[in-house]
Amino acid sequence: MTNPLYDSLFGQHAGCDTVFIQMADGMRITHAEFLSLAAQYAYVFRDLGVKPGDRIAVQIAKSPQALAIYAACVQAGIIFLPLNTAYTADEVSYFVENSGARVLICDAKQKQALIPVAAAAGSILETLNADGSGSFAIRAETQSVSFPTVDRTLDDLAAFLYTSGTTGRSKGAMLTQGNLLSNAKVLTKEWRFTAEDVLLHALPIFHTHGLFVATNISLIAGSKMIFLPKFDLDVMIDMLPQSTTMMGVPTFYTRLLQDHRFSRDLTRDMRLFVSGSAPLLAETHVQFEKQTGHSILERYGMTETNMNTSNPYDGERRAGTVGFPLHGTEIKITDSATGAAVSPGSIGEIEVRGPNVFKGYWQMPEKTAEELREDGFFITGDLGQFDEDGYLHIVGRSKDLIISGGYNIYPKEIELLLDDVPGVLESAVIGVPHADFGEAVVGILVPDGDTLLDPDQIKSSIGNSLARFKHPQRLITMSELPRNTMGKVQKKALREEFKDLFQ
Ligand code: ATP
Ligand code: MG
Repeated sequence: MTNPLYDSLFGQHAGCDTVFIQMADGMRITHAEFLSLAAQYAYVFRDLGVKPGDRIAVQIAKSPQALAIYAACVQAGIIFLPLNTAYTADEVSYFVENSGARVLICDAKQKQALIPVAAAAGSILETLNADGSGSFAIRAETQSVSFPTVDRTLDDLAAFLYTSGTTGRSKGAMLTQGNLLSNAKVLTKEWRFTAEDVLLHALPIFHTHGLFVATNISLIAGSKMIFLPKFDLDVMIDMLPQSTTMMGVPTFYTRLLQDHRFSRDLTRDMRLFVSGSAPLLAETHVQFEKQTGHSILERYGMTETNMNTSNPYDGERRAGTVGFPLHGTEIKITDSATGAAVSPGSIGEIEVRGPNVFKGYWQMPEKTAEELREDGFFITGDLGQFDEDGYLHIVGRSKDLIISGGYNIYPKEIELLLDDVPGVLESAVIGVPHADFGEAVVGILVPDGDTLLDPDQIKSSIGNSLARFKHPQRLITMSELPRNTMGKVQKKALREEFKDLFQ
């Protein structure tokens, strides 16, 4: 018997003295050292009474030890549930109770606040700090470094990952070994990862991007990761010359571009920059190429499905698009009302089917039935269209669609025009309640530097390019858009803030 995910990601490196993780200070951890630590952790779980199929939740800082907990869970057949480090004790309480986690691991600093949370949920509370110390680490010290891997099949659950909560309450996506493994294999091949690669890793590891995309690919390929606790511009600039690949959210790229040290010369040995989790502005893509000579590869995915599409490794990486469906993944664009496929080139709901698509939301059978069709297609909640060359364009989320005076308005169309206005850095277009129209179009503008924006002049400058009903009724200037840790613009928060504008 086997454990396919463990064998492919971790088991293949047993006894190897190759470097898996390098820290900013130069400290290195080999594959063998990492696997020994994971084995010790797996014993701790066994001692704590955690059985295969049980869940354990972690809310800890990014560290090699935090990643070793993921490996330990895979090896012991436990379902791994990482939590955003920004969540408050109240929020953690929802995830721990909802998932029925047997153990909750937190930083010692959070312990006091989480004691009642763990007690209410009947979970064991342990600590693991950013430097690898804590009660969990003490339990591990005396354990054996070789753990008998628990048998699993591709259909067994490997992780619960909660969605980012951009459109509503976070949902626990049940991901199987097969979901994770199939996606990691496809991406490794598609993006040509090898043991020669060094991935600059500054993403959080509680989200699919940094945890599954970045880490699983590196493990399958045997690549090294430069593992940074967070995005720090100076450290990134220092580490780029030692790296060959980087994965980031769009804000990583806009921040790098603003630094004069970020140049063609600095990125000379890089072979690939990947962007995802939020839309990359076409303008960023173009400027990046001008400044470095590299064309960012944008891909599209989500917690429930891992990655779905990618721009090509060879061939044109088309700015403002997320590329083609990955090998083995089907995508169709459907009419939200009927579920039927729309005519080629039209906008509709993006639906996805493939080995990457999750099993459903944990203990939310109704939500699962709403979004996961019986034929296996998952209704993503994103709207998109294929262009004539087969590149997928995402036009926004269905929940962000504005219906004004009975007309559908796609915010992206207006945002693209606003972004092009000189002096506008970026924009977000939302619908807010309006007595006559149902919803009114409101544009939020972020000025470039100190530029003073003139709303009336901007309204008239974009007026010619837009049908009358799409004209923003109000343009508001803000110094920055509200974003979460993954760089996603929080339109829900904007709608809330401006809900009384026309009341
Ligand atoms: P929730 O489902 O709880 O509302 P969320 O959808 O933001 O939160 P995630 O699963 O983290 O949670 O994010 C997936 C979403 O991120 C996608 O559905 C899509 O809207 C967006 N996304 C990811 N990659 C891209 C991209 N390259 N371009 C545009 N949007 C993207
Ligand atoms: Mg979502």
